[in-house]
Order: sequence, then structure tokens, then C-alpha cells
Amino acid sequence: MTMNTQGRPTAPESVSMSSIETVSGSRGLLQHEDLLFEIGTSETTGVDLPAPKGTKNRLGGVARKQPTGLPGLSEPQAVRHYMRLSQKNYAIDLGLFPLGSCTMKHNPRLNEKVARLPGFGDIHPLQPQATVQGALELIDELAMWLKTLTNMPAVAMSPKAGAHGEFCGMMAIRQALIARGEGETRKRVLVPESAHGTNPATAAQCGFIVDEIKANKRGRVDMDDLKAKLEKPDDIAGIMLTNPNTCGLFETDIKEIADLIHAAGGYFYCDGANFNAIVGRVRPGDLGVDAMHINLHKTFSTPHGGGGPGSGPTVLSEALAPYAPVPFVVKDADGMYRLVEDIEGDASESFGRMVAFHGQMGMFVRALTYILSHGADGLKQASEDAVLNANYIQARLKSVMTAPFEGYCMHEALFSDAFTAEGIETIDIAKALIDEGYHPMTMYFPLVVHGAMLIEPTESESKAELDRFCDALESIARRAAQGDEALKGAPYLAPMRRLDETKAARKPVLKWAEPELAPPVAAE
Ligand SMILES: *Cc1c(COP(=O)(O)O)cnc(C)c1O
Repeated sequence: MTMNTQGRPTAPESVSMSSIETVSGSRGLLQHEDLLFEIGTSETTGVDLPAPKGTKNRLGGVARKQPTGLPGLSEPQAVRHYMRLSQKNYAIDLGLFPLGSCTMKHNPRLNEKVARLPGFGDIHPLQPQATVQGALELIDELAMWLKTLTNMPAVAMSPKAGAHGEFCGMMAIRQALIARGEGETRKRVLVPESAHGTNPATAAQCGFIVDEIKANKRGRVDMDDLKAKLEKPDDIAGIMLTNPNTCGLFETDIKEIADLIHAAGGYFYCDGANFNAIVGRVRPGDLGVDAMHINLHKTFSTPHGGGGPGSGPTVLSEALAPYAPVPFVVKDADGMYRLVEDIEGDASESFGRMVAFHGQMGMFVRALTYILSHGADGLKQASEDAVLNANYIQARLKSVMTAPFEGYCMHEALFSDAFTAEGIETIDIAKALIDEGYHPMTMYFPLVVHGAMLIEPTESESKAELDRFCDALESIARRAAQGDEALKGAPYLAPMRRLDETKAARKPVLKWAEPELAPPVAAE
């Protein structure tokens, strides 16, 4: 038996992990759990109420003739079902979340405490505005911070995700072009080939034509290609550029790019999803940006995905500010805050409305709490630490994995699969990470790097945690370089083994069917 450094026994070497199968399907203390439809029955219920006496069914002809077929559970069964599912989830509160480009930051508990204050948590968007002055002031104060940190004159607070913010910025650009009388002629939007998929999708959704720009050997925009695209500038609407870009690199020519786009008569949309790397150090407004979304659920620590809704305030330059969407908050001379709701007066040139109300209030509260608890110096420190942590990972792993571009990275470290032996792919490394207790890194993105692995540790990970992660990934990388075939079967220790991803994508089984009626098996 092998012992760890503290004298605690680790797994006996004679047992191969891959051969362990259990009768119950559970692994360790992780319980196997079937679907609700498989464990529930129509006879079971969590409540036991007598049928009401003396009532008459008033449904008449519309009364249900067939049972609903919904499974019933007892209370303990229901509790265990969701508890078991929750334990299958990987979470930022559980371990390092290496997804790159997503900025999976720690969500401070103070954010949650403040968001639950009754004055923020228990208000309703249809309340009279005089009764929610504090909430409107909070939106205005967060807007002030976002404008200050980016050095931009205006911000649209209502977009509800990064992609929604892109939509906001590109609609503002479209409206500005229409106002110039060039809405029909300027249709071409330049998008680097390393861009996040939402960029070309947004441009297309707003009626633009996407024209791809190449990356150079340094992982940045190829300036020669850009200049060639601008030779005939009459149809240029603008550029959508991410900075730092999705290779984790700062676009060093960004000011020249902005100047070229402006000289061509276009606008500069900056994808701000990676703002976490530069807050307090670089102000996008100084770089010539016309519009940029800020993912509050990335840079400003509000929860992600299943943990909460996104929020994508979009800062706008002077040229685009008049076209901002309604509603927005203004402060009147008498000190009262007010939402401008209609396309008239202050908002007469607005491109319209994107959401029913004012945006994600709960996320505004959390983001401002994060900002105020850090202060200007703390925000800068967080960015610097995020960049330091990513460079630590790059430095620790680049002798065993392949870093495709030279030099330091920003907030995320990018590797290609060039170091792996024939037959071992990025996905095998990602699956082996699951056995080591980590959610996989971002895989196969950005597309400009073969078999890309993009790792973003964020600022709140300690050196000890980074080392633990690097130890695990380093050992997997060595096995990949040696062509260890066992990697192809990973994960071995997860409740679910390697899935057939092609089949899952091509023939997804999306609906449970009663086994005896129609087995839920997609056709071969
Ligand atoms: C996350 C991300 C987006 C989209 O943001 P969502 O909030 O997920 O809609 C766009 N671009 C980049 C580079 C991103 O990382």
C-alpha cells in the first residue's frame, strides 16, 4: 500500500482503476441516480390530504380523461433526488474552474448578502419609481464605475448577457450608419478568425456581412490582411475585436487598428469579455473603442450559468451614445432618479428597447458590491493577479505542453496538442482531468490553434491550488506525449464513463419515453 506524505494510505497499486465497477452504479459516496420518471410512480405522492368533500368538478367537458403520467415521489425521495444531482455538479465553490475565455471567478459571499437586503431583493420593476430611488441610484452608480473604468462617456445597462451586449453595440452602430444615410451601403464587418462565435453571429443577426481577418504568427490580427480588407472602405461598417483576444494575448496594434477603422468610416466594437485581465490598467476608451460589452458575470464576479443570469452592460463612445437603447436612468435637477422609457426627448435617436425592464438588478447589486469592496486599487490588483496566475500556469506547463505563441500571456494560458503522441487528442486530456477532480479546460477554442486547450485560473486561486492543478495536468500531458492508450478511455472514476459525443450531438435523446411503449434509443 502506498502512503501519501501525511501517512494516509492511497489506493493499492494492484487494483486498476478502470476495472472497478460497482453493483449499485454508485462510486465512492457519489450515489447513482435515475431519472425522476424512472424512480417515481403515479401512485406515490408527497402529501396526504383527504379528498375535499361536497365540491363539484366544474371542468365539465374539458376535464382530463387520461392520467397526466407525471411521476410522484415521497418527500425524502424528492430531497435525495435533487441532492444527488447537485453532487454531480462541478462548481466554482468546489474547485479550480480552468475554463478559458469564460472567467469563472469566485463569487464573494458579501455580494449575496447585499443582494438579499430587502430594499434590493424584495422590490418589483412595476413599483412606482419614487419608491425605488435607491435601486435607481445603484444602477446609476454602477454605470459611473463602468464608465470610469473604461473611460467611455455612456453605458447601456439593460443588456442581459455578453452576446446581448454585442447585439446592443452592433445595433447602435447600425443606427449610427442609418443616421449618416449609409445604412444600406456599409454592411461589411471585419471579425478576426480567432473571435468567439457570438461575434460573427451578432454581426449577421444585425444584418451585416462578416468578413474574416487572419491571425498572424504571433496570435494577433494580421495587419497586412486588415489593410488589404480596408483598401475599398466604402462598405465597411466596422470591426469586432476582442482584447485581450481569445488566444489570451493583448492586441498590441490596437490603436492603429482603431485609427484605420475610423479612417475607413467604420466603428470599433470591442468584445470586452476578457476585461478581467486589464481592469485598472487599460481603459478601452483610450484605445479608440466605440462600443464594448462588459460581462458582469465574468469580470465583476456575479454568478455564471446555472448560478445566475448574465448581465452585459455596454459602454458607448460619444459617436454612438445617442443611439443607446431605452430604458436608461437619468438624475433630474431635483435629485430624483427616473427611467427614460420612451423614444422621445433625451432618447429620440435610440435604436429601441432590448428588454422589458431595466436589466438584471440582482447582478447590478452584486457587481457594485464587488467593485466597492475592492476599490480602485483592489480591482487593479485582481487583474494583475489574474495575469500572474495564468503566466504561472503557462511557465509551469510549457516544458511538457506546447505553447503556440511566444512570450507572456494575459489572463489565460493557451496550449496546442502538438506535444501529444499520434492518436491522443485534446479531448483525451480533458477527460483525464475529470478523473483528477477538475472540470476540463476550454477545448478546441480558439479555432486558430490546433487542438487548443485554453486555461484561465483567475486571481483568487492560491499558488498551492495552481500547483495541485498543474501537477495533475502535467502528469496527464506526459502520458499524452508517451501515447498512453489508457487516456482514450478516461474518465474512469466519474459516474458516467466516456460518452459517444458524436451520437449525442447527431441523435440526441431529448425526451423520456415509457420503456415498454417506445424505448428511448436513437436509431443506429
Ligand atoms: C463569454 C464570451 C462572450 C459571450 O458572453 P455571454 O455572456 O456568454 O453571452 C463573447 N465573447 C467572448 C470572448 C466571451 O468569452
